[in-house]
Amino acid sequence: MRLAGHKTKIVCTIGPASRTELVIKKLIKSGMNVARLNLSHGTLEHHREDIRRIRSLAAQLERAVTILIDLPGPKIRIGKLQNEPLELRRGDNVTLTAQDILGTTSRIPVNYPQLPQSVAKGSLIYLNDGLLQLRVHEVSGDEVRCKVIIGGPLLSHKGLNLPRARILRDPITEKDLDLVDFGLKEEVDTFGTSFVEKADDIRKVKEFARKRGKSIYVVAKIERAEAARNIDEILDTADAIMIARGDLGVQIPIEEVPGVQKKLIHKANLLGRPVITATQMLESMTENIRPTRAEVTDVANAILDGTDAVMLSEETAIGKYPVETVKMMARIAASIERQRRAVRWSSDLEQYFRDGVGQKKVSAEDVISLNVIEAVRALNVRLILTPTHTGSTPRRISRFKPDCWILSFSNYEPAYRFLALSYGVCPFLVKNEGDGWPDRIMKLIKDLRLAKKGERVILTAGTAPGQLGEADSLRIVTVS
Ligand code: PEP
Repeated sequence: MRLAGHKTKIVCTIGPASRTELVIKKLIKSGMNVARLNLSHGTLEHHREDIRRIRSLAAQLERAVTILIDLPGPKIRIGKLQNEPLELRRGDNVTLTAQDILGTTSRIPVNYPQLPQSVAKGSLIYLNDGLLQLRVHEVSGDEVRCKVIIGGPLLSHKGLNLPRARILRDPITEKDLDLVDFGLKEEVDTFGTSFVEKADDIRKVKEFARKRGKSIYVVAKIERAEAARNIDEILDTADAIMIARGDLGVQIPIEEVPGVQKKLIHKANLLGRPVITATQMLESMTENIRPTRAEVTDVANAILDGTDAVMLSEETAIGKYPVETVKMMARIAASIERQRRAVRWSSDLEQYFRDGVGQKKVSAEDVISLNVIEAVRALNVRLILTPTHTGSTPRRISRFKPDCWILSFSNYEPAYRFLALSYGVCPFLVKNEGDGWPDRIMKLIKDLRLAKKGERVILTAGTAPGQLGEADSLRIVTVS
């Protein structure tokens, strides 16, 4: 068996450009670790087909591919337009209404009847991720009259953002819960929640699944100022986060996105929660075969900052070069991962634990994970082997972004698949056959020719008999 050339995980949004068997197979072979289905678009029938196709191809290729369904949340959108693209010109007057009409240059329908309560005279309204901008000059009854500040072409159903305004909608909608139900039936691996504000929003989704007898992994999308402010409680509740820079970049001033991104990555790393950096990473490859220098640098910097995964949206969903884009992402990741130690001399995260700043919450697994990293450096090993039930030990090791691979061995299928999201973790699904884990794991890596005779590896272990996980010790083992 050959381990991948990159440890950063690649999330690909599946869409018309990538949903065929041929392209999915190529995406998996080129480095896709997570397939994201954006439920704001497409039909459930298509998504069901995609889920089954991805599952079957991943099994055929013997790869762990996480399937992430992204719930739409309370995203505000304009309705259908009479003629597309509709051209809005600077200085034009345009009225936004909740009435079910076909949009024209003077009246545009919006799926948010509370709009008049969320804005006031002078408020800014962004359309299409902020490419078009309106300023409110009058709120009258159930209509909002605006002047176009920045014009441009507009297509039906594009997003509408209200920077800094209060959204009078529950972040988890009835429709989201129906879609969770769909995901549970299709046994997807994880659910992305859009526009969450606080931990309770994530609890609501988990509770909904729990009542149906399921425990689910939730990826909290951070795309509102409130979510960035409440990140500590969100990280305590969510299983992973996504820095959804598209909406975030219109909900907060765009120049604040880089700083917020770095803080979010750092906080997620501290707790060992996987973090996905998303949106416009290689945007120009939607149309072109090569990315811009700025995009390549953006991907590399997110990796250096400690992101677990980098995401492709339109690039793989509707782009001209989905496979080439994944290959490019994999090349950038492999290159910068090799240079990580050379361009970052010390890791703040390790220092944080060494200094005991985090002592209040330090667990035995935290200490083991730090010891593993020390041992990896001192002994220059290539493999860390972690038996795990829930995935918590490999995730804790992964947050330090070691240069070597972390092979995780779990007998719990959902944990196995979710580990495909964590940096540098190569997950294995193993059968529960009682005691003797260390020997069986050593045999497996020898059979797969992942380790050579005489090579030293690090093996974490729990002392509870017959149990995988709850690591409370580490061993340095020489492969016999
Ligand atoms: C984003 O806003 O960056 C994002 C990933 O969410 P969506 O693609 O659902 O708009």
